[in-house]
Amino acid sequence: MSCCIRCGKELNSIDIGAHKKFINRGSTEFMCKSCLADELKVPEKLIDKKIEHFKKQGCTLFL
Ligand SMILES: [Zn+2]
Repeated sequence: MSCCIRCGKELNSIDIGAHKKFINRGSTEFMCKSCLADELKVPEKLIDKKIEHFKKQGCTLFL
């Protein structure tokens, strides 16, 4: 189980998928969704929305 490199929170597959999608697909260290939102200076809700969108497109990062 990996943890957020910023706050140390345990990550789930959605957090990891989002990090790969929004930051870098080749990353080996990840941030949780809220740190990711903070890093990108967007509301966490927007990240959720985009994840939903990617899921609907069948993005395998979020399976
Ligand atoms: Zn975090």
